[in-house]
Amino acid sequence: MRGGLISHEPVPLLVGLDVDDVLLNLVDRWLEEYNEQYDDNLFRGSVTDWDFSQFVKPGVDIYHLLRPSMYEHIEPLPDAAKFVQGIRDRGHTPVYVTACGNGDTPPSLTKAFATAKWEALIRHGIAKDGENLIAGSDKSDAPVDMLVDDRIHNVETFRNGLGVLFTQPWNRNSYLPRARSYEQVLDFIDRYARHTPQCEDFS
Ligand SMILES: [Mg+2]
Repeated sequence: MRGGLISHEPVPLLVGLDVDDVLLNLVDRWLEEYNEQYDDNLFRGSVTDWDFSQFVKPGVDIYHLLRPSMYEHIEPLPDAAKFVQGIRDRGHTPVYVTACGNGDTPPSLTKAFATAKWEALIRHGIAKDGENLIAGSDKSDAPVDMLVDDRIHNVETFRNGLGVLFTQPWNRNSYLPRARSYEQVLDFIDRYARHTPQCEDFS
C-alpha cells in the first residue's frame, strides 16, 4: 500500500488571465471615446477607483460606451503576447477569464463580447487556437488554479486564494498579492507552481 504522495515539484497550472487591462488595453480606448463624446480629458491615471462613474461628468453613464465593436480597434498592453508565451514555455496553460457584461446582460450580448475579445486576442498574437476563453462576471469559481486580475474584488474572492492583483491606478489601495509587471506575474506563477501540493494516487 502506498500513502498519499505530496509533491513539491513544480506542477503545471491552469493560469487564469483576465483580459481587460491585464492583456488588452481597454481603458485607454474607453476613455478616448468618453473624452471625445463628452469633451473631457480623463486619462488612465485619473481613474483611481474601480467605480469609474465617480470620475466622469455628472449624469454620464460611461458603461454604456462599452460595446463589442470597441475590440476591433483595441491595442494590447506592451509585451502581452510575450508574457503569455512565457506561461506556455513554463509548461502551464493560459485560460482567458473575462467578464462579458454583468448578471443582467442578455446572453447574445455576452456572446458578442466574448467573440470580440477572443478575436482581438488572436489578432494580437496573445491567444492561440485551442486555448479557452471563459466568460463570466463572477470569477470566484472559475475552473483555473490561479487568477491574474486587475479588479480587487475578483482577486479577493477567488476561491483558493491564489490570486494576483495586476497593478492599475484603480487598484492601488489593497493589501492583496500584487504584480507591477508581467515579470512579477511570472514570479508568482513560479512560486504557486512549486507550492501547490498535489495529492497523487492515494491507493
Ligand atoms: Mg480587467
